[in-house]
Amino acid sequence: MNLKEEERRARLLKMRAERLPDIKKQFEEAQKRNFNSNFAPGGKDEALVRGKTGAKVKKPTRTTHGGSATATGKNPVAAKAAKAATTKATKTTKASAKAAAKTEAEQRKVNLSVSVKKGEMVHHQRMLSQDVNAQATQHIIGIPVNKSRYNGYNGEQVTNAKIKSARPDPDAVRVIPIGGLGEFGIGKNMTIIEYKSEMIVIDMGVLFAGEDYPGVNYMIPDIKYLEDNMSHVKAILFTHAHLDHIGACRHLLPKFSPLIPIYGTDFTIGMIKKQMSELDDAPDMNYQVVDPLKHEKFQVSEHFSVEFIHTLHSIPGNTAIVVRTPNGLIYLSGDWRHEENPMGIQTDYERIDEIVKKEGIDLMLNESTNIDSPGHHPHSEFDVGESLGSVMDHYANGRVIIACFSSQISRIELILKEAAARGRKVAFSGFSMINNVEVALRAKAIKVPKDTIVKMEDIIKLPDERVCIVCTGSQGEMNAVLNRMITGAHKFIKIKSTDTIVFSSNPIPGNEPHVVNTVDGLLREGAQVIQNGKTHLTNIGPLHLSGHAYYEDHVDFVTRTHPTNYMPYHGEFYMLQHNAEMAENVIGIPKDNILIADDGDIVELTKEKKIRKCGRIHAGNKLYDDADQPVHEAVVKDRIHISREGIFVIVLTLNKKTGHLMKTPDIVSRAFIYLDNSEELIGKIRHYLRQKTDKSISTDPEMKVLKEEIKEDITHILFDATGHTPIVIPVINKV
Ligand SMILES: [Zn+2]
Ligand SMILES: [Zn+2]
Repeated sequence: MNLKEEERRARLLKMRAERLPDIKKQFEEAQKRNFNSNFAPGGKDEALVRGKTGAKVKKPTRTTHGGSATATGKNPVAAKAAKAATTKATKTTKASAKAAAKTEAEQRKVNLSVSVKKGEMVHHQRMLSQDVNAQATQHIIGIPVNKSRYNGYNGEQVTNAKIKSARPDPDAVRVIPIGGLGEFGIGKNMTIIEYKSEMIVIDMGVLFAGEDYPGVNYMIPDIKYLEDNMSHVKAILFTHAHLDHIGACRHLLPKFSPLIPIYGTDFTIGMIKKQMSELDDAPDMNYQVVDPLKHEKFQVSEHFSVEFIHTLHSIPGNTAIVVRTPNGLIYLSGDWRHEENPMGIQTDYERIDEIVKKEGIDLMLNESTNIDSPGHHPHSEFDVGESLGSVMDHYANGRVIIACFSSQISRIELILKEAAARGRKVAFSGFSMINNVEVALRAKAIKVPKDTIVKMEDIIKLPDERVCIVCTGSQGEMNAVLNRMITGAHKFIKIKSTDTIVFSSNPIPGNEPHVVNTVDGLLREGAQVIQNGKTHLTNIGPLHLSGHAYYEDHVDFVTRTHPTNYMPYHGEFYMLQHNAEMAENVIGIPKDNILIADDGDIVELTKEKKIRKCGRIHAGNKLYDDADQPVHEAVVKDRIHISREGIFVIVLTLNKKTGHLMKTPDIVSRAFIYLDNSEELIGKIRHYLRQKTDKSISTDPEMKVLKEEIKEDITHILFDATGHTPIVIPVINKV
């Protein structure tokens, strides 16, 4: 072992020894927290504990529910016999008809000369259709599986019958999430709060569809329930301007009366207006700009009053919303993070504390995004700014290109500051980037150093060491600016080996392969790439700060606000579950006061300040493509099917009178087999079709049956040859 290695080891050991007391303390703290509460009284595993201590758990035996024949009042034996007789009679008629049809079919039968049994094909088709359904409907919610101990039914799966028999409390305030809970990916956030015939709506977000949905760009909540109760809607509120909260506005807002007030902060309303202006005939809506620091209470209906609370997140004009209802105060956290040393104004903890002290929070809806991230936020936005500055110092002779989310206005402000301090000019590239900076400037949400921003076409005239470009594409999006700079498709910039590209972001789960692809492309051009989270490669970091609170931030906040009832929202199912566990195990909120709801669940807040689930409304998705046009679920299923198995079209020209084949059938294969290489199979199919159309038929019903049989037989022949079942479409022309 050389000296250096020894030194390194010694250093490591020393570091570990120094950290040990800390780790031990953390572990002890964790021990104090009652993590095994499934075994606590009321927990779903309580019986196991009781079993140990001797108390017997009575198992229901089969005989209790066995029900003998005499149990029913009437004469069951006679009824049974009569029923059997009728069934038998119908069966006989059906059977004879079936037999007749069978002989006809038999007559038309052609030897397919296949070795694979039909049953195998049917099995393949069934499995395929299950796969396609699972892929295309993962977000579509009927009655979702939810057997969490916080599901509101003591861990039992709710049934249709239970939902139907639910008796709503007419005096309850109803909280109904219609999007954003327990989905695959975070998005399409939307919540309704309802009391008697008054409703308020909070947020209207989109969810960007993953690759599982071919040709679908994004989805929005299905608002059938609101459309059925339009006259009840009294106000629409927006917490902040991220697309998972406002992205569905251009589809949904036009459905509402233009008289309904729409509340949001300056920046949020600005972003909504910008989005609406993209519509051909944007309706004139009743926008109401709110300054949360004024602590105004807006009486939006007879029974609802709302107040916006300034909180920190990764976008200007971010808020939480307090709704005062006849049954108590509801706090919707929106998205938030805690920062000791924020760039802008600190979260309005003073106002929150005042509300908690004077009124108390009866129900809190708290976001769940980063509940799986341990500890507190490890650094601040200023650290990110410093890192970006040091990139400009380290790579002082070349262009610095920074990719980040276009809504990161504070980050952009920091970049401008760091660039100005080093004599660099900044240009923005990307449609959403330019849009957002414009809105931020108008809402005075960003401070810009003098003479720093220049246009793209002007910055390329400057020497490299004075160039800084801020662009979109940090998620590896194929058509975003960064990728276009690599391929040379960008109007002004082509990446060169002296460029330094900074990813001031983290890949959103699911986007990792695309980001890797972009990074590879940049490296192939010889550029320097600096990514957040890879400090060991360049010694530069951190380069990003998440907009969402970490676990201990949540612990602190919920401890501070001690709500009576707690409902995690804004998260995938595991996040909601972990958030609920935090509330019970760490904060000590009783299990019965915590609910994990799904989109469409009706959560009642009663006069007694209890929460319970009571029924469901229709919830679901509307899918859209990248031209903002709706895509039907059936189309998505077809696309998935075709992408796996392909499509096979046969065009037959038959004699109108005899049904005989008039000419060689046309065959089209797409996404299945390449026809030029499949002569033998095509010959077999042609031979089959000639035989099949040998018999004389002429009526339309006969043609229909023929078409079905051809479809089935061809599928069988194709499956026999290839192991795949493409969508087979026989087209019959009669001449
Ligand atoms: Zn957000
Ligand atoms: Zn969000």
